Parts: sequence; C-alpha cells; structure tokens
Amino acid sequence: MNYLVTGGAGFIGSHLCERLLDDGHSVLALDDLSTGRFANVAHLEGRPGFELRVASVTEPEVVERCITECQAVFHLASAVGVRLVVDEPVKTIETIVNGTDVILRCCARYRRPMLLTSTSEVYGKSERIPFREDDDVVLGPSTTRRWAYAGAKMLDEFLALAHWHEARLPVVVARLFNTVGPRQTGRYGMVIPRFMAQGIAGEPLTVYGTGRQTRCFAHVKDVVEALVQLIHHPEARGQVFNVGNDEEVSILGLAERIRDLTGGRSEIRTIPYDEAYTSGFEDMVRRVPSLEKIQRLIGYTPTRNLGQILADVRAEAERPRGPIE
Ligand code: UDP
Repeated sequence: MNYLVTGGAGFIGSHLCERLLDDGHSVLALDDLSTGRFANVAHLEGRPGFELRVASVTEPEVVERCITECQAVFHLASAVGVRLVVDEPVKTIETIVNGTDVILRCCARYRRPMLLTSTSEVYGKSERIPFREDDDVVLGPSTTRRWAYAGAKMLDEFLALAHWHEARLPVVVARLFNTVGPRQTGRYGMVIPRFMAQGIAGEPLTVYGTGRQTRCFAHVKDVVEALVQLIHHPEARGQVFNVGNDEEVSILGLAERIRDLTGGRSEIRTIPYDEAYTSGFEDMVRRVPSLEKIQRLIGYTPTRNLGQILADVRAEAERPRGPIE
C-alpha cells in the first residue's frame, strides 16, 4: 500500500515511516522541516518506496497531488511542543487548523482513510484520572496561550469526526500522550531529552514548578504500533482513542531517575513556571490515559516500561553524531 505520512520527518512521523517501510509499504513523507528534521529520515532516503517531499500541509495543490498518489493518510503534521505554542500562537493555530482542513478536504474528495493524531492536551486540566475518551474536557481561558494548542487540536478532532458523520469518510482520531524515544529533540521543551542531555553534561536538571506534577511516557515504537493497527480497523472509524502508557511518574521522580542513570553528578534545580515559560502559565497536575478502549479493540498494551524508555534515550544521547545531525 502507498501511505502519505504528514509530518513524516518529525520524531514520531519518522518512526512511523520506518515501520511502514519495514512492513513492505511505500511511504510519501510530507514535511516542511519546520520542526521536523531531515536527519530524522536521512537513513530512509534511498530505501525503495520512500520519498520525502518538503512542503507544508497548508498548501492545497501540494496536498492534493500527494493524496492522489497514496491510498491512506496518517496526518501527524502539527505545531509541536508547549514552548512553541506559547511563543508563536498565531502560527500554531494556523498550522494545526488550516493543515487539517486541507488534508481532510482532499481525503474527502478522493475517499482516503485518514488517521489524525491529536493530543492528551485536549483533556486540559481535568482532574478525573485516568482520562477516558468520552470525558468532558476542562480547558483554561483563551487569554492563557497554552490552551490554544488544546483548542486547535480539539477543533481538528471535531472537523475529522464531522467528515465521518456527514459523509462516512473513514477517519480515526488518536490522542497521543507523552511520547518519547530516539530522535526526539529537547529543543521544543520535551522533558526527557532535556533531562538526559543535562544529566550527561553534568548540568543541573531543570524541574519546572514543584516537580510534583506527573506524566506517563510511552515509547514511540509502542505508539507507532497502535497507529498502524488503528487506521484500517473497521470499528475504529469515527472514534477517538487514547494512545500511550499508563505508568505514572512525577517530574521530580523522573529527574532523580535520570540523574542516577547519568552518573549522579547533576543537581536538581526547581524553576518557577513564570521563569520557565511566560507569566500566567498553567501546567497539568496529572495526566494518565485510560487504555481500556484501545485495549478492548486491538488488544493494545505498551511493551516498554519507563526503565526501557530511559535506557533507549540515553543510548542515543551518548551515541556519536554524524555530520548531518
Ligand atoms: N518540564 C520540566 N523541565 C523541563 C521541561 C519540562 O520540569 O526542562 C516539565 C513540564 O513543565 C511538564 C512536564 O515536564 O510538567 C512534561 O513536559 P513536556 O514539555 O515534555 O510535555 P507536556 O506534558 O507539557 O506536553
């Protein structure tokens, strides 16, 4: 099969491309290399069936051409990372909403099945743990820029589900929880690559807030596996699924583990949110997925725990880099 993977040169996208190629499919990766990097897919260039096209998902003619060449679409392209969202809200909202609109219109025109990757951010600051797909979402006010990301991704979900509702376009929505693994960069704020780099360099580990906030981290290979299984599942159509891992860890606990794993030289330094981001920043206290729905449909259970994830990230962080990286 020929797949279009938007955001194919991103961290998760590149793992997905690799997985599809390993299964014998052809992959057209569409990426404008804004947050994606050529280095993520450099090892795929030259593999039969792989092509990287550098353009934005907001360009209708480009997207149309790509979709006519493919039979199904994984739509991962998006603005990424809380820092970018806080610093460049207009670009964030436009990329997210316009991109998805363009993709969905083309998928509708050519009747292509489409999987949209959404985010656990849409649950906002709900305190009902674990988060279930049909829970109410609890977003903060529109004057707090962080919520722009959740609001925009939620609009993407509404739009995708509307295409299913009105025309039975086969769409699946996957709400990704914190995803980690090789090739993730700490440049956009992601905590594990940042702590790992800080620990390896013997620098202070920068814990934002009290560090009592928790997250659940899934290995990118587990996440990609779920996406591949969901896209063509007949009962997944018109549905939303949490994808992630439900092993919960506090950020302070995470910092301690990474400090110990990297030789124990780093101190752990707490930094107030106002200094780390901009004033008025709101963080989620806990974020845990209910995996019941996806487990029931495709028998999904994450195969890698936090220890294995950290070992993988550390191995790649310590690996010598080539010239294009
Ligand atoms: N965080 C931190 N230090 C960092 C980067 C992030 O303490 O250098 C915290 C961040 O405030 C959040 C958690 O780690 O509570 C996860 O952040 P990340 O940006 O990785 O993902 P998020 O869950 O916010 O989407």
